[in-house]
Amino acid sequence: MPDPHQVDDAHVLRVLHEFVRPAVTGPSAPLDEIAAHHVHGEPISYDDAVAAAYEPFAIGDTWGPAWDTSWFRLRGTIPPEWAGAEVALRFEIGGAGDTGFGAEALVWDHGRPMQGLSPNHREYRLTRSAEGGSTGELYVEAAANPRATWGLPEWPLLLAEPDGPPQFTLARAELRVVRPELRAFWEDARLLGELLTYLPVDDPRAAQVRAALVDACAAIDLDDVAGSVLRARPALKAALGVPARSGGHRVSAVGHAHLDTAWLWPLRETVRKCARTFATAVSLMDDYPEYRFACSQAVHLAWTKEHYPDLFERIRAKVATGQFEPTGSMWVEPDCNLPGGESLVRQLVYGKRFFLDEFGIETRDAWLPDVFGFTAALPQIFRRAGVEWFLTQKLSWNQYNVMPHHSFLWEGIDGSRVFAHFPPADTYGGNMTVDELRKGVDRFLDHGIASRSLYPFGHGDGGGGPTAEMLEAARRMRDLDGVPPVVLEGPRAFFEAAADEAADWPVWVGELYLELHRGTYTTHADVKLGNRQGELALREAELWAATVLPAADYPGAQLEDSWKTLLLHQFHDILPGSGIHWVYEDSARDHAAVLDHATDVVDRATTALVDTVDTTGHVEPVVVFNATAHDRTGLLEVDGEAVALVDVPACGYAVHDLAATSPPPGTAPLSVGPDHLENERLRVELDEDGLLTSVYDKLVRREVLAPGARANVFQLHPDRPNFFDAWDVDRFAFDSVEELSELDAVEVVESGPLRVALRLSRSFGSSLIAQRISLSTGSSRIEFATEVDWHESHRFLKVAFPVAVHSPRATYEIQFGHLERPTHENTSWDVARFEVSAQQWADLSEGNYGVALLNDCKYGYDVRGNVLRLSLLRAPTWPDPVADRGHHRFTYALLPHAGDFRLGGVIEAARELNSRLWFTPTGAHTGDRPARGSLVRVDRSGVDIAAVKRADRAQGLIVRLAEVWGRRTSLRLELQAGVRAAVRTDLLERDLEPVVVDDDGAVTLDVLPFELVTLRLES
Ligand SMILES: [Zn+2]
Repeated sequence: MPDPHQVDDAHVLRVLHEFVRPAVTGPSAPLDEIAAHHVHGEPISYDDAVAAAYEPFAIGDTWGPAWDTSWFRLRGTIPPEWAGAEVALRFEIGGAGDTGFGAEALVWDHGRPMQGLSPNHREYRLTRSAEGGSTGELYVEAAANPRATWGLPEWPLLLAEPDGPPQFTLARAELRVVRPELRAFWEDARLLGELLTYLPVDDPRAAQVRAALVDACAAIDLDDVAGSVLRARPALKAALGVPARSGGHRVSAVGHAHLDTAWLWPLRETVRKCARTFATAVSLMDDYPEYRFACSQAVHLAWTKEHYPDLFERIRAKVATGQFEPTGSMWVEPDCNLPGGESLVRQLVYGKRFFLDEFGIETRDAWLPDVFGFTAALPQIFRRAGVEWFLTQKLSWNQYNVMPHHSFLWEGIDGSRVFAHFPPADTYGGNMTVDELRKGVDRFLDHGIASRSLYPFGHGDGGGGPTAEMLEAARRMRDLDGVPPVVLEGPRAFFEAAADEAADWPVWVGELYLELHRGTYTTHADVKLGNRQGELALREAELWAATVLPAADYPGAQLEDSWKTLLLHQFHDILPGSGIHWVYEDSARDHAAVLDHATDVVDRATTALVDTVDTTGHVEPVVVFNATAHDRTGLLEVDGEAVALVDVPACGYAVHDLAATSPPPGTAPLSVGPDHLENERLRVELDEDGLLTSVYDKLVRREVLAPGARANVFQLHPDRPNFFDAWDVDRFAFDSVEELSELDAVEVVESGPLRVALRLSRSFGSSLIAQRISLSTGSSRIEFATEVDWHESHRFLKVAFPVAVHSPRATYEIQFGHLERPTHENTSWDVARFEVSAQQWADLSEGNYGVALLNDCKYGYDVRGNVLRLSLLRAPTWPDPVADRGHHRFTYALLPHAGDFRLGGVIEAARELNSRLWFTPTGAHTGDRPARGSLVRVDRSGVDIAAVKRADRAQGLIVRLAEVWGRRTSLRLELQAGVRAAVRTDLLERDLEPVVVDDDGAVTLDVLPFELVTLRLES
């Protein structure tokens, strides 16, 4: 049956869109002069730009090879007949196939960056009341950022070529009269039209809204819209005045611009995106006092302060009015699977401190709308940094399962809880539409106990955040029948009210696993390696510098700078490997700088230590360093050769005499051949393909590998995900597999007395794998030092170890602890976790025995049944067509052990794999320090020393401990320098409560399972 209203509705739409909308802006006038200065390559400053030479430029002319900048100088005169009118510059960029996309630009008015221009923001208001005949000049800095095209791999490549053809035109640059009253009518009518589209046909409210619109249209003279439209506005008033029905769900609309710190553009462009976005936000705040904007990454404001000080002061003023709200508490919005625990701590410390120092605001929320899954360590880290609220919407992207709540308590491995909220509109960049608002409320799963939800709206990634149109719509939906009441407010106001609404929130325990983007644990191995190395190097640099150097010589500011560099590259499209190639050129350079700096600090500190160590009586003394938290025995290597077995105390050093080197007495000789490696503990057998066919544990007389299985098998899977190439590996990828069993060569490369090793090489496709398998005296760790020349495309490389262990659960290391995940597929939730992330190890144990698989820079694992697998390499083609192609070097290790992972020494073995013993040669001399010692020491296994550093803003040392076994215990902490006073602090190093110091200068503490303890100690 035909809808009798269709004719009316079509008429209304036509009147509004064809007649009213074009009338909102009045007459236009050309500019007097358009001139351009084109900058090839890197951007230049405003001062350089205005001093440059300009050439005439015409509407329709082309500009902008990828990544270039064009500065437009615009001069104009307001026509005398426009006196008293509101006048704006209309500026539009065209090109790239005229798809409506335009580059982003920044208006500079009298030397100040005033507002961004983009497809969403095409007008810059010059005056509310023009003086006819007045003249003016503006500069527009336009960036030729290549267009981002999802799903079309060729496009961005084509357009991203520097030195390529111009991509853009200047479609429009002119003066225009703006008619605020017409705009107001247009916004009224547009919103009611949208409401009408959404409401069911038989809803009485629909009839009311339709009647109002029909009446309004009848009042308009289509031959003189501008002259008649004001007569039409009262017709809409009644329909707009009907209040929202009581008892409705309330929406806290938060203005936002999700700004990826690097992704399809490099870091340097984000600096300019920040300026354009924030300038737009701040200028709209003058027009809309109720507008609240959440700015969520401290580094963006730090950049703005450095590069745009005038804009930063305007932001500061809007922070003071409460309109511009520092949000999120972190330095960037980091990936939350891959960074180590201490990195997540520093994200919060430096993020929160920036907001505190600059604005006096203590942020209490974590704002991570777009991050690819969340470690179960986070709730405790958040709480100890004073963060009580957590927001994401990313789990709405799950492939298999729908999360059961939108508002709930999230509980981490230690039992800490934060209030968590998933905005039910399932977006972090809403358009302020009736459709999104109503669907969000319909979708909300916790109406029984909660009456509000958060709705982030605004264009992200350079789109400039909310528009005036969105803010106009929000005004009209504050209390309007047919839509939930919309309140513009910041995240703080929302969370303060929302978190207290219920006393009995449902609880979600454990990680918030994202059932998507599982390839990001593996893609771009270079950035993962750089991050791991940076984390380990900065830990060592702080450890030695804090405990050895005088306080005045501690390079605290420089270490903080290095940390911030590392944290920057943990951004959720950098560390996951989902950025363009340029992003990883920057990461490689910055990671190298972090490593250089940390190495330099370590050298300085340990040289100072070596000079004060008593080495008398040694012929050829070296001082050996051990940065791990446990006493260890390990091999000392000279030029790649194992020359001695040495004992070194935890976080300490020991003098060793190279001249006295020999195998320790009683050591059984090792044995090696192309088909085996053997020490006192293990006998490893290989077949003619170089694959492991037996790992026999001689101590407990047990075969480690599954019967008949071959292990250390490289498995190659076709890897063509349905959607996000660099991000995803889909389940079907693992349905077919090619095992790389072909062996090119095997040879014995080390034959004792302290270590034996084989070298194997394999070729496949266009690629090569060379691997050194080694076994050291006294160790059950079989190490696989691997080099790959990787030239595949759309292939996923894993290595597999089928073992004789049966368990329904495997254990994975996460930040400051571990968790268990199923090894089966009982439920859809288990099915979804076919690829998971871990830090340095995963372990499969049954009662009294287990096997761990350790890594030194990898993050992707799967354990299905009795097969442990580590993910090694991927080869996506979008957005980086050459991601991961080239040379790789990494080491993994297999550790069979009696007992569980705790008693089996898995954590210690993983730390040793990641942190080698190293030494500094010296001469025989006397010194104040004994020949061996721990600078910091904890007397309990299963307690990591996560950080040792000088306090940033107080006297003394900061020592951060993490209980990682998951049990309560007491421990004793000692410093070589002794402890005089001790206090527990939060993660920002703010004092909490004093801790008792024993008479002998040590600290005794009780700790809870997985407790993270930060102490400030004075010697
Ligand atoms: Zn993002």
